[in-house]
Amino acid sequence: MTGVYFSDEAEMFAHKAWKALDLTPPADVDMVARKLGIALHRQEFVPEIDGLYLRIPDCPPVIAINSSYVKPPGRQRFTAAHEIGHHLLSRGRLVSDRVFFLDGADTKKNAMETACDRFAALLLMPEDLIRRHFKELEANKENRVAILADRFGVSAWAVRRRLKELGLPYATYRFGRQYR
Ligand SMILES: [Zn+2]
Repeated sequence: MTGVYFSDEAEMFAHKAWKALDLTPPADVDMVARKLGIALHRQEFVPEIDGLYLRIPDCPPVIAINSSYVKPPGRQRFTAAHEIGHHLLSRGRLVSDRVFFLDGADTKKNAMETACDRFAALLLMPEDLIRRHFKELEANKENRVAILADRFGVSAWAVRRRLKELGLPYATYRFGRQYR
C-alpha cells in the first residue's frame, strides 16, 4: 500500500461519513465512532499520549482518548477523529490480526499517520463548509480563526493549518496589531 492510496482513502472516508451520517459542524465524533461499532473511551493518560486505537479478534474495536486537562477539547476531538482514521484505514487487515496504534508526541509521521491526520482534518473541517463559513465571517477578520475553531470544535492551530491548505488568507493578530 502506498501513501497516495492511504491519502485518497482518507478523503473518501471523510466524504462518505458526512453524506451517510448527515453531520453538521461541529462533527459529532462520538456518533461517528458509535456508528462504526467502535467503543470510544476517555481517560487520563500521561501527557505524552494523545490516544490509541486497538483491535483484537472477537472484540469490538477500542479507541481511548487522553482526557487530561493538558489536552484541550478541540485537540481531543482531533485525536478521536485521527483514531477513527486508523480504524477505517486498517480495514484491509485480516480479522485475525491484532491492530494497535499509539499516538502521541513520539509518533513517527509515516504514510498511515499522515493519512489519519488528513482524515481527521477533513472529517472535522470539510472544505465546502470551511469555505462557506470563512466567507460569511469576512467582516470579522480579526476573530475569524477563533470563531471557526469554535464552530467546528477544533483548535485555532488546526483551523490555521486547514486555511493554509485551502489557500485561504488569514492574519495573526497580536496586541491588536496585525502580524503577517
Ligand atoms: Zn496515529
